[in-house]
Amino acid sequence: MILANNLKRQYDLFAEEYRQKAVEVLDSGWYVLGNEVKEFENEFASYIGSKHCVGVASGMDALQIAFRIIGIHEGDEVIVCSNAYIACAMGITMNGGTPVFVEPDAYDNLDAEKIGEKITDKTKAILAVHLYGQSCDMDKICEIARKYNLKVIEDCAQAHGTKWKKNKCGSIGDMACWSFYPTKNLGAFGDGGAITTDDEDYANEARVIRNYGSKKLHYENDIIGMNSRLDELQAGLLRVKLKHLDELNEERIQIADRYSNEIVNPLVRPLQTRPGSNNVYHQYVIHCDRRDDLMNYLKENDIGTIIHYPIPPHLQKAYAYLGYHKGDYPIAERYANEVLSLPMYNGMSKEELDYVIERINDFKE
Ligand SMILES: *Cc1c(COP(=O)(O)O)cnc(C)c1O
Repeated sequence: MILANNLKRQYDLFAEEYRQKAVEVLDSGWYVLGNEVKEFENEFASYIGSKHCVGVASGMDALQIAFRIIGIHEGDEVIVCSNAYIACAMGITMNGGTPVFVEPDAYDNLDAEKIGEKITDKTKAILAVHLYGQSCDMDKICEIARKYNLKVIEDCAQAHGTKWKKNKCGSIGDMACWSFYPTKNLGAFGDGGAITTDDEDYANEARVIRNYGSKKLHYENDIIGMNSRLDELQAGLLRVKLKHLDELNEERIQIADRYSNEIVNPLVRPLQTRPGSNNVYHQYVIHCDRRDDLMNYLKENDIGTIIHYPIPPHLQKAYAYLGYHKGDYPIAERYANEVLSLPMYNGMSKEELDYVIERINDFKE
């Protein structure tokens, strides 16, 4: 069985380094908000090209905190792509804000051309979700944001190492939200997340919110915060992986290049990469009109695949109160029926890749 993602393989690549670091942290006697977190925050900020990084407990928390810091409240609207992951919408609505969906473009990311028509006097921000490992068109998004005085939040949960032109994603908007969920390109061995920003006030506020609203370590609470801390073990292990992130991304790019060059089945349309962006292939996504048949056929051939994502946010039960119906976002709904993520993980063998490509090319009407 070839899994859609095999986390044991990426661990095995640097197992000795992870084990050593884990023991080092366990032996240190300090497990939350210590030196490993501080060093990771410095190293990650410098890798991204941001002035500040604040470690938090998850990508979801990073989004919730970022929207809180820019002041999203009841009645405020935030632009987000209609094919986003559910956490993107939840980061907005947990602050009382309303997601305003904009359809994706041919690169499965926010269609910047369609943002203008959705802007009202309640619009406060744009959430640029760099889906699947490639960048949104940040030039156009930032231009619209300047024109209407909106904040730009980047969701970089799938874009560790992605660039838009010369700059890394996560260093372009007002704030960027990161997830280190184990499957992400920079994945921890448990949950983790971060916010990067050039704004010192935003960074300080995030540090206070993540720790019960306290500036000190303990027991003096200035605002109502949350418990959203990155732990020392995850931070230490992330420091180990961050050193290897570029080579891990390069390996993904090589796997993706083989898929792109060798999949010749006209029923299968690999997603292209936007000019101006690179692609770190968090997922290798194809579109197929007979996606469910393809998925079942691959499963019968012992190949795992995943749909990212089968139900767009506007059709989720959680968002029934927004009052949307099937047909309201036809592009997102079509993509939900077409997309399929092929096996993509660090440590994937040549034989596994050969086999997946062969089976896909054998898929017939
Ligand atoms: C994974 C992911 C998140 C949420 O991250 P968690 O750490 O799982 O909370 C948010 N946005 C996108 C685009 C993601 O892929």
